[in-house]
Amino acid sequence: MSSLRILREFAAVRWFRPFRSRRAVERRQRRLLRAHLRFLRRRSPYFRDLLDHASFAELPFMDKAVMMANFDEMTTVGVRRDEALDLAMANERSRDFDADLGGLSVGLSSGTSGHRGLFVVSAAERDAWVGTVLARTLPRGRLRGHRIALFLRADNSLYESVGSRVVSFRYFDVYADMDENIALLREYAPTILVAPPSVLGLIARAALAGDFDIVPDKVYSVAEVLEIADERRIRAALRQPVLHQLYQCTEGFLAHTCEHGVVHLNEDSVLVEREMLDDQRFVPIVTDLRRRAQPIVRYRLGDVLRLRASTCACGSALTALDRIEGREGDTLRLRGRDGRSIPVFADLVSRALLFAEGFEEYRVVQTGESRIEVALDVVDERSRQSVEAELHRLADRLTCERPEIVFVPYAHDGSVKMRRVVRAPGEGRS
Ligand SMILES: [Zn+2]
Repeated sequence: MSSLRILREFAAVRWFRPFRSRRAVERRQRRLLRAHLRFLRRRSPYFRDLLDHASFAELPFMDKAVMMANFDEMTTVGVRRDEALDLAMANERSRDFDADLGGLSVGLSSGTSGHRGLFVVSAAERDAWVGTVLARTLPRGRLRGHRIALFLRADNSLYESVGSRVVSFRYFDVYADMDENIALLREYAPTILVAPPSVLGLIARAALAGDFDIVPDKVYSVAEVLEIADERRIRAALRQPVLHQLYQCTEGFLAHTCEHGVVHLNEDSVLVEREMLDDQRFVPIVTDLRRRAQPIVRYRLGDVLRLRASTCACGSALTALDRIEGREGDTLRLRGRDGRSIPVFADLVSRALLFAEGFEEYRVVQTGESRIEVALDVVDERSRQSVEAELHRLADRLTCERPEIVFVPYAHDGSVKMRRVVRAPGEGRS
């Protein structure tokens, strides 16, 4: 850990790169991309082969399977997949993430696609990451004396405590007892709280019950899709004018919210190509322009993002998003009245259920071509009718056949990433 490197990155992101025009953003991206491709030709056998026959725009998309299959030839630091995997597994099992591989951090990503992912980050990259995250999260004005509480699934040693004289970090294990966590959190009195929405929901509940009375300067939602209903509930309970978001995954730190609470892509270090799904929604194809140990090049992320129609009042030229909607695989597919298969984006389902009443927790799973299973924490006449009416209204609006709706009790499962709208494997495909 080099504080100088962290500080340099912090200063660059915070003060020296205020992108006010798209031209400036694109100029920087072109310059970084040229340097990155030169580096890959020199150091990554996998990309050298590809770049001999193709330009950047012709490179095939990567995903987790491609990355895992070509790991040894792709990475540029001479680390073998099996060796890194062994270490990452041992770290995960002991829940002690200090062990590294000659200065490289390794970790696993569980993800939702069924493949186990592996990531490798150099010390310099980790420092740059810490600097960027701090620059993007620390409130305007006072910089020193912040206490940052991180609630994260410990599948990422990037997040390990980075103590310094300027800010203090404390790491909370999401697998530990939540009542105990909340008591510790109260004692720590964070000025900045970073957690997945499912955990923020529990903290919000404790706040409403009078068991958590700290009001942090900023609260960040990470690692899961932030549903609008959850956002409102958490914001109110923790008395926040804005609930912030960090869009951070194994593949990189991709977006952050500005002081207005609008999500902006981190286009100063990440190139995001768009595979458009409709006129606003797209799947991002991500190239991390600075990550070298394990290159992320034209990585198809499988998330659905929605562009913002208007520019953001903060004046940043970094692309503004309306929402990070969720996994592309969680797009339901219902039968249209004309027999076609019609995509029903997870976000549309969540929005429809905003208007339904009589329950707090829900989960929607498509289990057949025209069959939807809805789990509710309160299953009674009122909640059933209300949910059914809203889902039928949505189906009508999209000119789909009304699906059969089956109600089941809601079961809490803290071990998986919380996804409220899910398409069961193999169901409803076109
Ligand atoms: Zn903004």
